Amino acid sequence: MPEDLRVCALYPELMNIYADRGNLLVLERRCAWRGIGFRLTSSGLGEPLDGDAHDLFYLGGGQDRDQLLCAEDLLRHKRNGLHAAAARGALVLGVCGGYQLLGSSYALGEEELPGVGLVDVRTVRHPGPRLIGNVAIEVTLDPGRPARVLAGFENHGGRTRLGPGEQPLGRVLRGHGNDGRSGLEGVRRGNVIGTYLHGPLLPKNIWLADWLIATALGLSVDALAPLDDALEQQAHMGARSAAGV
Ligand code: GLN
Repeated sequence: MPEDLRVCALYPELMNIYADRGNLLVLERRCAWRGIGFRLTSSGLGEPLDGDAHDLFYLGGGQDRDQLLCAEDLLRHKRNGLHAAAARGALVLGVCGGYQLLGSSYALGEEELPGVGLVDVRTVRHPGPRLIGNVAIEVTLDPGRPARVLAGFENHGGRTRLGPGEQPLGRVLRGHGNDGRSGLEGVRRGNVIGTYLHGPLLPKNIWLADWLIATALGLSVDALAPLDDALEQQAHMGARSAAGV
């Protein structure tokens, strides 16, 4: 039996818009159903972060004013730990506001919030309409395996651009994605992943949840025991059809 999955939720109270806590619940349940131990720790404002103590770091979505508080705290208390974790191949998953903060900066009017800099992406708060709606993207996580669809919901005022050499998580099939124009969604650099997809993301896309669990434990996804996923498949198909794919 694999060892425990150790997950660290960053700012679970502040960065939890759209019930992104559901993402953590899915990880917990899918481990429990397989007899894999699950240890959840949180790290909030002012708290240190031990980059060696966790296999997966999760940063959810948030409103601009909460992101402001977190951006400063991330730099002061968590940046080094997160960089050390990413360097040894730990998974770091950021959703929406969390995705924005993993990048280099988030510009809000006159103000520019510095990001953690795990990936070279820059976000600018656009004065125009928010990018809202159901979204579907095509993703290939492992070369050689077929592309899969991630389906979810997006609602962001920020427009995100990838720096040169940075790869998106996926290509937009329906919806807006990073900036409503590039056709790109999210970012992926090794095991650091950022995406605008809420939903919450993992209850609607359990194949991604399993990939995260396996990868964080250093396993192939085929090594995970199969589960009865009839309901989860329905949720996925519902999210796809809402997005029109
Ligand atoms: N506040 C950010 C934006 O509007 C992120 C929003 C979110 O996490 N849903 O772009």
